[in-house]
Formats: sequence, structure tokens, C-alpha cells
Amino acid sequence: MSSITNPKRRQWLQGLGCSAVAGAALISAPSLAQSPNYRIVIVGGGFGGATAARYIKQRLPQAEVSLIEPHAHYYTCPFSNLYLGGLKTFDEIGHDFSNLEAQGIRIISDVATAVDTERKSVHLAKHAAVSYDKLLLAPGIDMKWNALEGYDEAASLRAPHAWKTGPQTQLLKKQLEAMPDGGLFILVAPENPFRCPPGPYERVSMIAHYFKQHKPRSKILILDAKDAFSKQALFQQGWEQHYGSMIEWVPFSQDGKVIRVDATQLQVETEFGTVHQADVLNVIPPQQAGAIAIQAGVTDNSGWAPIHASSFESQQVADVYVVGDASIASPMPKSGFSANAQAKIAATAMVNDLLGLDPVQAFYANTCYSLIAPQHGISVANAYVADETQVIETSGGVSPLDASAEFRQKEADYGAAWYKAITQDIWNSPLAKAQ
Ligand code: FAD
Repeated sequence: MSSITNPKRRQWLQGLGCSAVAGAALISAPSLAQSPNYRIVIVGGGFGGATAARYIKQRLPQAEVSLIEPHAHYYTCPFSNLYLGGLKTFDEIGHDFSNLEAQGIRIISDVATAVDTERKSVHLAKHAAVSYDKLLLAPGIDMKWNALEGYDEAASLRAPHAWKTGPQTQLLKKQLEAMPDGGLFILVAPENPFRCPPGPYERVSMIAHYFKQHKPRSKILILDAKDAFSKQALFQQGWEQHYGSMIEWVPFSQDGKVIRVDATQLQVETEFGTVHQADVLNVIPPQQAGAIAIQAGVTDNSGWAPIHASSFESQQVADVYVVGDASIASPMPKSGFSANAQAKIAATAMVNDLLGLDPVQAFYANTCYSLIAPQHGISVANAYVADETQVIETSGGVSPLDASAEFRQKEADYGAAWYKAITQDIWNSPLAKAQ
């Protein structure tokens, strides 16, 4: 979309006695106070959407910023593995929207059912439609039901994915608690791309920690559709150090790819016909952008949304921005940290476009901490820059192998500090105060 064609902005700049070009240079902080009441609508109150709402409202206090989110409490996927491992309570990973509401953001407790990109309005399940000048979609992921034969929503009630934190995560924890000592936990890991590349491997680490304490004869089998995974050498070294032979990883090339799930029997079948019997079965299926992004027409055949890397505005629909897991931002991983960084750039790009300011150069960062044992943290960190078409990695790396116990403890501490800082930046409202 060309910002010159934005009639509201042109009107406003004319009102200030500026030409559109000179106006951009002349806007000062006091003049922002005269800006019209732009209507900004955000779908999704997770890492991407809630960040965008906060930062847009800060930059444009007069704007009507509406955040559509059906859940009163948002439970984070980051640290949900620690909940499974017994290191966090469920409340400790929950946040509400009271602080965002106190900032003047309108929280609409509802599901966005459709976007009319011609009329620029969002239809809701229970409320009247809301109109927008700019729309930001941050709906996260949806599972691709039946992409893996036998794995649909009903099957997930027996063999949970627990890849969105909520009842699924609580179900998996109950199943782990009910499992007898000596049982087999199977995790089915998907192909790339998917939400949180190191997530499945942190999950087995935390479940191994729980087993070591409560069910030491139990085993963990990872059946993987890939031959390599994030922070692999660090995870494998940590598993050997803390859990001996408890965890077995079967890569794609050694018949790790699951092609069929029988959730009733808790059985999975691999490409070459091997049937594995689980006591607890955790299937992380193939994923795609949240349904509303697909309905809005911002996704392509991959199921994810192509965006302009410097603004996260959709390549397919003007005035609609897509951040977080739903977007195609590779090589940035689908992480909460990425969603937060992208939302800040999208917020700036959106506001600058409305105000006639020049676009900013977009830089992004991502750090992802994983916990292998309570005192054993590892991390990967990357920096990125955007050019016209894509996100480009400029530097990055993982923590070293063979590091000292002191180093691992520090990484665990950094991970805990990261969680406090990012959730404060976004919601600033932990459900459990003492963390
Ligand atoms: P989400 O955070 O999922 O938010 C989407 C929101 O949109 C939800 O609240 C949903 O209710 C709402 N929504 C969806 N559709 C609609 C609709 N139609 N109408 C209204 N609302 C809607 N990332 C890290 O950075 N660090 C970690 O340590 C980490 N650990 C993880 C561990 C696990 C086990 C998993 C599964 C993920 C982890 N992640 C981690 C990844 C992180 O959770 C996601 O990348 C992040 O949540 C993406 O943010 P998002 O805003 O795109 O989506």
C-alpha cells in the first residue's frame, strides 16, 4: 500500500498546513496529540498481538486500539515444559489483560470469525463487527488435523499435542502423573517449520527430570520426522549427563517418521511399518497459521503468511499486518521472542505509515533458552536485518558444548530472567505474583 494514498493522513497533513512530503519531516511530539482517532484492530492477545497493542497505544494514545482475544487468561507456551517437569505451577505461566486495559486498550473477549478486507472490518462471534484503518493479525498456529493419518481433534483428547498451552497441557501432565513407573512416553516430533524448534526437546528433558524423581524406570522415545534439530548436540550431551539412557531419539532416516496414529490404542506406525505402543502419547502434528489468517486471505499455499520483512505488512492484503508464528519470517524461528520483536517493528511501521513518517530500518533479534535440568540451561541467539523482501541473519550461535556447571547454571538463570522480562514487557500481570 502506498502511504501517499491514505486519505485520512493526507487530510490531517493538509490540516496542519503541510505538504505530504514536508509534513513527514515536520511532525513533532505535540502534533501527534492532534492525530485523528485511527482505529487499530488486533486479533490475538499472545506474544505478538499483546505486544503490538501495547506499543501502538504508547505511540498513538488517541488511537482506538481494540484487542480481540477469547481467553481471559493467556498461558504461555514458554515455561509450559517446566510446568510438565514440576518446576512451575500452571498459574505461574498465566497472564491477564488488566494492565493493557488500564492503558486504554479495548479488550474484546471474543473470537474473530472473518475479516472483510474490502470493507476493512472484522466480524466477531458474539459482538458487532469492528472497523479498522489498520489490522494486525497474530493468531498463532492451528493444528493441521488429519495431515497425520488418524490425528484429529478427537484424537488429541487421548494423545494430546499440548502445543497450545491450556487444557491440552494440563491433560498431558495428568497422564504423566497417572503413568506407572516403567512406562513408555512417546513424543512424535514434526517436520519443519513448526512452532518453537527446540520445544519438543526441552519437553522431553523436563519430562525426564520428572521421571527421574518419580518414575525412574520409565523411558522416553522421540520419533522424529527430521534428521536434525535445534541445539541438538547440547541437548544430547545434557540428556546423557542427567538422564543416561532414559531418552532415545529416532531420526527420520532411522525410521523415525510417524505416518499413522491410533489414539485409542496409544499406538503409532512409522513409514516402514514399525508399530510403537505408548503408555503416554504426545503427538505434535504439522501446523499452519491460525484459521483467521487463512480466512483473511493473507496466507499462501504453505499455510503461512508472506509478509514484507521490514514492516510485517501482508504481501497479499494492504493494511493488514501479520506477526508471530502465523507469518513467514524464516530464518527467524517461530518463537515468542521473535513474535515480540516483530510486533514492535510492525507497530512502528503501522504508526509511521499513518503519520506519514519515514519507514524505519528493521532489525530483529531472537534468543531461545531451553532447560535440560533445573540447573542446566542452554541457549541459541541470533540477530537479523530486513531488506526489501526478506529477513537476513547477520550473526548467531549456540552456547558451547562441555561448559562448566557454573556456566549451565547461569544460562538457566538467564532463561528465568528472560521470562520475567518479556512477560512484563507484554502483559505485566502475572496471575501468580511470587515467581
Ligand atoms: P500465540 O502466542 O499463540 O497467540 C495467539 C493468540 O491468538 C492466542 O491467545 C489465541 O487465543 C488468539 N487467537 C487465535 N485465533 C483467534 C481469533 N480468531 N480471534 C481472536 N483471538 C484469536 N518461544 C520462546 O520465545 N521461548 C520459549 O522458551 C518458548 N518455549 C515454547 C515451548 C513450547 C512447548 C511451545 C509449544 C512453544 C514455545 N515457544 C517459545 C514458542 C511461542 O509460544 C510462540 O512462538 C508464540 O506464542 C507465538 O506468538 P503468537 O503471538 O504468534 O501466537
